Amino acid sequence: MTGTRFLFKTTKNLFGQTIKLRHKGLWLSKGDQAAITRQIARARGLLSASIASISLGFNADARRFATTYFLTGNTGPDGAEQTQIKKILQLTYHGLSNDFTMKLGGDGDFGFVTRSRSDAADAAISPHDGLGWSRDGHAMHISKKRMLRDADIGVITIIHEGSHKFADTWDHGNSGYREEDDSGWWEPGLTRAQALVNADSYAYFAFRLGATCGM
Ligand SMILES: [Zn+2]
Repeated sequence: MTGTRFLFKTTKNLFGQTIKLRHKGLWLSKGDQAAITRQIARARGLLSASIASISLGFNADARRFATTYFLTGNTGPDGAEQTQIKKILQLTYHGLSNDFTMKLGGDGDFGFVTRSRSDAADAAISPHDGLGWSRDGHAMHISKKRMLRDADIGVITIIHEGSHKFADTWDHGNSGYREEDDSGWWEPGLTRAQALVNADSYAYFAFRLGATCGM
């Protein structure tokens, strides 16, 4: 991210959690701050509801969403897969519930998490997330434009990027991204094993399952 500087900082408190919003422009309006804070709170709520929902096992909704997003077939995720799904959701929730810094880019269409040098060597990084490593480590960058354009997409993007940052999920090229209207994958080809570590799979799974719990 050559030339990208986040000189300005706005600090928000959310139920005792401190969120630092770093931005390039001097001004982050109160309305934008409120919208972004609401999206973070909603992402946390959806994750929390999803985790509670599957804590005693996957019900019919959870199995159906797992079939769609984790490609776990008609029988749903097996025991090891259920454990993995829960663990990644919990790590993402925990990370988003503690203090963190989010860098708000103004012009991109997506978010990404900067990776360490060794991670960047992994060929599995996608174009929109794998924009390289930087010295500030695993910073979570999210497009302000994308967040403010559509609140649902903003929430999904926060969970997606949070899962990268806090639970080491990956992207798998165009076959790992859902269409924004959730009608399918950008391209076919994602395998079941890939889906179980795929960021967008967790973002949409938590978004849909959390919604069935009234979030
Ligand atoms: Zn990603």
